[in-house]
Amino acid sequence: NDRQPKYKRILLKLSGEALQGSNDFGIDPGVLDRMALEIGQLVGIGVQVGIVIGGGNLFRGAELSAAGLDRVTGDHMGMLATVMNALAMRDALERSNINTRVMSSIPMSGVVEHYDHRRAMRHLSEGDVVIFSAGTGNPFFTTDSAACLRGIEVDVDAVLKATKVDGVYDKDPVKHSDAVKFEHLTYDEVLDRKLGVMDLTAICLVRDQNMPLRVFNMNKPGALLSVVVGSNEGTLVSG
Ligand code: UDP
Repeated sequence: NDRQPKYKRILLKLSGEALQGSNDFGIDPGVLDRMALEIGQLVGIGVQVGIVIGGGNLFRGAELSAAGLDRVTGDHMGMLATVMNALAMRDALERSNINTRVMSSIPMSGVVEHYDHRRAMRHLSEGDVVIFSAGTGNPFFTTDSAACLRGIEVDVDAVLKATKVDGVYDKDPVKHSDAVKFEHLTYDEVLDRKLGVMDLTAICLVRDQNMPLRVFNMNKPGALLSVVVGSNEGTLVSG
């Protein structure tokens, strides 16, 4: 059976940008619905799904800081942006009849649950999708680091990073037609070659815990399911 999942539990990292579709800013509900459909396919074959969403479609602390805001304030705004994205994603998932919990690293009573490790583990075991929002809760981190941190904490089999391109290349494939895609990279190769897979904090975390990371193209319909049933879609980063 080729629909037998290779992974029992995964952490899917979605960038904020992915939610904006062809818009320059904000959220495209059509994109959310398509993602919900793809995530639903995983839930349908019994895969437990945790999600970390970025906030770059709304605010990024570094950009706000470059425009003159205080960096920590900007990062707080960025983290709050991820909560908005998480609420929109939950809405799309629940409209597709997928039970979804949103947890936030920053307490926000009355809006979402506060992140709790054991409760997150329980929700995942029960088959609910859990969206981890507000990043790590700390400024100067990214949602890539949050994805690796939560993925390791809730003991997923792999962290899956959704991108716009088919994997990791030796140079930007959008700018260079002769860019070569890597099938596999070690953590140290990513660090040594300074490949912008994820920021250094995130890569060091997965390396220290030996957590496999797969980078794949979520814009390709069916790619997510394909990764989960064990295809060589995208690029695998492991030890
Ligand atoms: N952020 C933060 N701490 C975290 C995660 C995120 O301060 O642990 C802030 C940071 O300002 C970042 C913004 O939230 O720019 C949005 O997250 P990110 O840039 O990772 O989103 P993505 O690029 O994945 O959309």
